[in-house]
Amino acid sequence: MTENIGVLGTKSPRRSGVERVVNAPLPTVYGKFQAIGYLDHDRGDEQVALVYGDIDSDRVLTRLHSECLTGDAFGSQHCECGDQLAAALRAVVAEGSGIVVYLRGHEGRGIGLLGKLRAMALQAEGLDTVEANLALGLPVDARDYGVAAGILSDLGVRSVRLMSNNPRKRESLERHGIEVAETVPLLIEPCENNITYLRTKRERLDHVLPHLDAVAHWS
Ligand SMILES: [Zn+2]
Repeated sequence: MTENIGVLGTKSPRRSGVERVVNAPLPTVYGKFQAIGYLDHDRGDEQVALVYGDIDSDRVLTRLHSECLTGDAFGSQHCECGDQLAAALRAVVAEGSGIVVYLRGHEGRGIGLLGKLRAMALQAEGLDTVEANLALGLPVDARDYGVAAGILSDLGVRSVRLMSNNPRKRESLERHGIEVAETVPLLIEPCENNITYLRTKRERLDHVLPHLDAVAHWS
């Protein structure tokens, strides 16, 4: 049996779940957030929740944003992640309070950055996002929302209004004990570069994207 030895040499019980480590003010172009940092003891990931205003325990406007380096930082038009992140941050500021949990380890629906880039290379050759993951022997969606539920619980949240188009995200969060009082659509205007990807998300991953019906001229 192995035991964790603390930095001072004292034995400490093995921790699990998420631990709140730090709370720092984070002024952004959207508004002034608190960046609350967590350590996920199960996977070793560092996670952060951006909290705006005074949070209630119920019906908190919330986004669980899956990390996407290419979309969030580089402005990639392959996906709509960057626009969704910005829209979510704007929405909680407009609301006066809310939470954006930024989930690391979720690149490419959980296949990692290099896996995602390999899948994007295959999509450039004509495979769709689902076929590409499968062709690489990787899962179509390996994301887990247990960490997000742990962070929300730590913040005193019992129920959320979830900004998402993905019914599987809602189901997963509820399985982990956070009630989803309402789903708030987060619809981003498609562009020529992502319309095929968005249609695949709707048709093969059950995302609710009714606004794509209005787009016909790129098909
Ligand atoms: Zn993305």
